[in-house]
Amino acid sequence: MKPIITLLSIALGLLSGHIAQAEGQPVPAKGYALFSEDGHFKPYEFERHAVGENDVLIEIMYAGICHSDIHTVRSEWGPSHYPIVPGHEIVGRVTQVGDNVTKFKPGDYAGVGCMVNACGECDNCKAGLEQFCEKGAVFTYGSKDKYHGNAITQGGYSNNIVVSEDFAIKVPEDAEIEKVAPLFCAGITTYSPLEYAHIGEGDKVGVAGFGGLGHMAVKYAVSKGADVTVFDITEEKRQDALDMGAVKYVNVRNPEELKGLQNNFKLILSTIPAHYDPTMYVRMLEMGGELVIVGLPANDQRPSIDIGSLVFMSRRKVSGSLIGGIPETQEMLDYSVAHGIYPEVEVIPVGQIDEAYRNVVDGEVKFRYVIDMSTMQ
Ligand code: NDP
Ligand code: ZN
Repeated sequence: MKPIITLLSIALGLLSGHIAQAEGQPVPAKGYALFSEDGHFKPYEFERHAVGENDVLIEIMYAGICHSDIHTVRSEWGPSHYPIVPGHEIVGRVTQVGDNVTKFKPGDYAGVGCMVNACGECDNCKAGLEQFCEKGAVFTYGSKDKYHGNAITQGGYSNNIVVSEDFAIKVPEDAEIEKVAPLFCAGITTYSPLEYAHIGEGDKVGVAGFGGLGHMAVKYAVSKGADVTVFDITEEKRQDALDMGAVKYVNVRNPEELKGLQNNFKLILSTIPAHYDPTMYVRMLEMGGELVIVGLPANDQRPSIDIGSLVFMSRRKVSGSLIGGIPETQEMLDYSVAHGIYPEVEVIPVGQIDEAYRNVVDGEVKFRYVIDMSTMQ
């Protein structure tokens, strides 16, 4: 069987212009990197680790631009390693598989999100919560890969990636492939807390920040039958929220619209990437309700919560959520494809990454940029 798979892999590689990598050799890669925190994206050549026996080599087709990419490459969460190739919303085709791989064969679609490895042995990994691996998960870029000589990982704004099959997500052939990549971060990060809170029919859910993550939260919550209110700072997305099934849109810059919303929501999911007042959202929770925070502003813009307000608003909870584990990411992908839930995307060539970053920060994108990696020379 293996020789047939290897031959198939070589044939596919030749067809796509990519020669299968020699066993045990590092894989050459081309990407777009930032060389300093205030720089511009430039082409960058580097190496991926060799395709190990449990690994797959994926030829990347599309990579989403997440606001986390912007926080990271600008060192807004602390110093980053440069050059840095960001991108943790990745989809492409498998072009080569290691000897022990059973989940994929050459030619399959595969997705990669925010993680590329974890120990697999600790309680959290065994529970499918690899993002909380007790030995530390290896994140897709800018992370020390202790399983491969401590090399710093590089992300998806590139032509290929090598990853353990355990961290690659199966994507069916009938998926709307140019819209799939953002599901691996924006999708799972919003799907997971809604599932954890068992959001269902008639539950009142608020979504604060209606961008890449926020619009996915709206789509998932609506699909579960929830009664969704969206909070953002612009008028331009009001109609989009209603079109996606929200019952109400609140422009928080207009205090009139905030009236009458106290003691209302079972869950509010905050995806806001800038400074804001979380206590305002805690006040809008029903007794026992929960504010779940996923948005992570720059270190110098992080808001804090007045604990006095928490005491007097007893039993309302505030928690955080970090992406989702691999089994749940596969579940989210299957759910999304089965229900036709995809992000609203604008596909751009690699030459427009700098402009796209400006637009995300300025609120000029509806709702997610996806880079077409075939536009890379
Ligand atoms: P986007 O920039 O796409 O979306 C953010 C949205 O928040 C925009 O619509 C923006 O409005 C809106 N917004 C900004 N300020 C406010 C405010 N004060 N009140 C209400 N809305 C506001 O970002 P992403 O969705 O890609 O990411 C959101 C955050 O989530 C980032 O901090 C990111 O790092 C974090 N993140 C966290 C993850 C986790 O696992 N916890 C995973 C992935 C991302 P406008 O467009 O008009 O500016
Ligand atoms: Zn992300």
